[in-house]
Parts: sequence; structure tokens; C-alpha cells
Amino acid sequence: MSHHQSLVSDFLPFTWVDGPGNRLVIFFQGCNFDCLACHNPQTIPLQSVAAHTWTVEDVLQRVRTSMPFIRGITVSGGEATLQWPFLVELFTRIKQDEEFAHLTTFIDSNGHVEPAVWEALLPVTDGVMLDLKAVDGTLHTELTGHSNALVLDSIRYLAAAGKLYETRLMLAPDRNDSDEQLRTTAQWLLGVDPLMRVKINHFHAHGTRSPASNWAEADEARRQRNRQVLLEAGVQYLC
Ligand code: SF4
Repeated sequence: MSHHQSLVSDFLPFTWVDGPGNRLVIFFQGCNFDCLACHNPQTIPLQSVAAHTWTVEDVLQRVRTSMPFIRGITVSGGEATLQWPFLVELFTRIKQDEEFAHLTTFIDSNGHVEPAVWEALLPVTDGVMLDLKAVDGTLHTELTGHSNALVLDSIRYLAAAGKLYETRLMLAPDRNDSDEQLRTTAQWLLGVDPLMRVKINHFHAHGTRSPASNWAEADEARRQRNRQVLLEAGVQYLC
């Protein structure tokens, strides 16, 4: 029996970039951040005419059609954890039902999540990909409209629970990618877990709103420099 309904903005049938193996990605409508560099700003409002109301059963039916081609599902957004009761029900069904039990369950999150929500989700979640926009609190507020206190807490909490699959750094030239900023970030992350898996997501202007639509994108030299600084700072697993 499905109790919860959820606003789903989109599905991506197959992707290799949102967690391990080939995955079905479900994008949920609504986000509790308002990032300058958001490349999908239409998913920020909690309501949208473009989004559809789905039940857990509807989503499972969609999972069934992709099943021969996928290793698992990833929920993304927006911020999928805003609809955490729905996720708990969906992931519980996947874990309990023999038909789906071979699938892994991953969450793509901005990390602005209360510990009690992680506590509810983790028993049925295999891993979390978490975004970190800045370790510096002031810069984080500038970039996202919110404090990073919960984000940093989430990274510590998930790492301690063995559920942090990777931390993702959105890097934009001259915004949050100076050598010093990257060293501070690496130091903080490695202090949480010396073997932290770190992924760089370079800023792309496409799809963003003003003023970020006018920001520069990193050229190849800049990208290599970003990587080099993180590697030299001790990041061993850099994607
Ligand atoms: S957390 Fe992600 S979806 Fe939400 S505003 Fe930021 S970039 Fe957009």
C-alpha cells in the first residue's frame, strides 16, 4: 500500500555519473537552497506545473521498465530529501521486495538535511553523493543563500555511518576555486575521512540564471590546476 505521493520533475533512464553502475535517476521537485550556479533552477520551487504527482507504486512501475538495464536507482533534485517520507517508503519497498532487492539505492543531496532525516533514510539507503559548495561559511551563504552548518554535519554523519559515497565540489573560477580555498576544503574533508572520495563538478553556465550565466567557465589549464591542488593536498580518490 502506498501512502505517500511525491512531486517528480523528471526521470533520466540511464546514467553512469550519479552513483555506481548504470542507474535510473529520479528528479524530485523542490529545493531548500537557492544556488547562484544552479543549472536546473526550475526544480527549486516546491510546486511546478511541469512536475507530476507520483505514488510509490507509480515509481516502482517505472523502475520495472528499466530493470534489465540498471544496477540501481538514484534520487536527485531539487533536493530529494525534502520528500524523505516518500523516499523511506520507496527504498523500503525496493529493499524488501525480492523483485527489486538486487538494486542499490542512492541519494544525491545538497546536504542541508537534519540528522533525524538521515537516521530515517540510512537503513534503506546504500550511499549518498553530497555537494559541498564551500567550507567557508560566508562564501557558502553567498553561493547558496544558506549556512553550511548542516552540510558539514551531514558529511561527518554520513562518513561515520559509512554511507558517504562521494563529496562533490562544484568549482567556479574565481568564486570558490582558488588554491587556498581548495587546500582548506581538502584539509577539512580529509580530516573527516582520509580516504574521502571527491568529485569535481566544474561550473557550466548553461541553464543558469543571471548573474551566474555570465560567470566564466574553467578552461583546461584551470581544471588541471584544480585537480593538481587537491591531489597535492592529499586527496587520493579524485574523480
Ligand atoms: S542545491 Fe542543487 S538543485 Fe538546489 S538550488 Fe542548489 S544547485 Fe539547484
